[in-house]
Amino acid sequence: MKAYFGLKFLLLLLLFGCNDTPTPPIDLVKKAGFCLTFDDTYIKNWNNILPLLDSNDVKATFFITQIYKISKEEIDLLKTFQDKGHEIGCHGWQHIDALKYLENHTLQNYFNIEIKPALDFMNNINLYPTSFSYPNGYNCDSLNSCLLNTFNVIRDITDEQRRPLEKKTLKILMKYVFALINKGLFLHWGLIKILIYH
Ligand SMILES: [Zn+2]
Repeated sequence: MKAYFGLKFLLLLLLFGCNDTPTPPIDLVKKAGFCLTFDDTYIKNWNNILPLLDSNDVKATFFITQIYKISKEEIDLLKTFQDKGHEIGCHGWQHIDALKYLENHTLQNYFNIEIKPALDFMNNINLYPTSFSYPNGYNCDSLNSCLLNTFNVIRDITDEQRRPLEKKTLKILMKYVFALINKGLFLHWGLIKILIYH
């Protein structure tokens, strides 16, 4: 059964895959490091922490989803981020759960409804993302191979990060977050998400 499913999936990939040959990730950096990334549409909140990033010479990647909901003012902010050296990435058109969607659809279907409209919209306003982050981190190898034909970098999250936090851990984390807020540090949900998930 498993083998049949695997074969069926491979056939689907061969028949409907975004492109014929998967492209390996490009060899960007050889030394150790980390990427600071923010997801979704919290553009005004991100703008509040931009001085903190810039004053420390930290570059971040902002992965945008549902860009059709974003105001002109927020689009302009994104362009300001980019002008300052930060990266604007793609986080999907409708923020759908890729794995759930692929239970009943092909990779090409996913590309057509989640990736293409997002890229078309972004390109139309002169944003050209070369990196992608999966909504909620849900992905699979065949989809990664498919999307690496379009993006240079794809951001995943680990299974541990995907797992809901234990109540006890969350309690400790929130205590830490509130202590920072009490000290006057402005925290927003995007940053809290980074602390929790990323
Ligand atoms: Zn998201």
